[in-house]
Amino acid sequence: MILGVTGGIAAGKSTVVGEFRRLGAEVVSADQLSREAVEAGSPALERIVERFGPPVLHADGTLDREKMAHIIFGDASARRELEAIVHPVIEKLAQQKLAAARSRSRLVVYEAPLLFELAAQRRVDRVLVVTVEEKEQLRRLMARDGLSEEAARRRIAAQMPQAEKIARADFVIDNTGAQEAALARVRRLFEQLAGEADLCDSQPCR
Ligand code: ADP
Repeated sequence: MILGVTGGIAAGKSTVVGEFRRLGAEVVSADQLSREAVEAGSPALERIVERFGPPVLHADGTLDREKMAHIIFGDASARRELEAIVHPVIEKLAQQKLAAARSRSRLVVYEAPLLFELAAQRRVDRVLVVTVEEKEQLRRLMARDGLSEEAARRRIAAQMPQAEKIARADFVIDNTGAQEAALARVRRLFEQLAGEADLCDSQPCR
């Protein structure tokens, strides 16, 4: 059983996923895969340098993600070119890592902030969306990332609306209140899914 976990920025995805991990779920992180896809010396990074030039690299040969983000900001065709290089690699890594994790563990959690945007829900059996009221989201985002209110608002506004994510979810955990309440929900969901995962061994999960 693979559970996709998504939600808006600073909603509490990492917090929720941390609890699943503590309970014994195997975790695959899409952010980690996207870093691996362009690690120093990788074919994808070579193609990025061919296309965008050596200034997109740090002195140590790793990708300067901030500079890359700056280049593609407001340049849709550059963004598409970058995505055409990187996405197939991430796809392949996701396939490999999720299959390997599934062979080791009954419950695999795929933490993917852009699960819906990148159509990655087809890689998972169920989707959990972590939600938070916007005022609290803003407060946590500003506190965690040291952002001004304006910058934090911009980041939230750039994302798929929360209501749209909720509409596509199998499960929703609201993390607006105390963290312990959300973690207690995670523990109940873990029990439920672990039970369903037993069934998955003898019949398809979907
Ligand atoms: P995400 O992974 O969705 O971006 P995080 O799990 O990093 O979000 O949570 C965002 C910030 O809010 C972190 O600093 C985290 O410690 C804090 N946080 C998470 N859940 C709660 C909660 N229920 N109450 C208060 N702070 C929280």
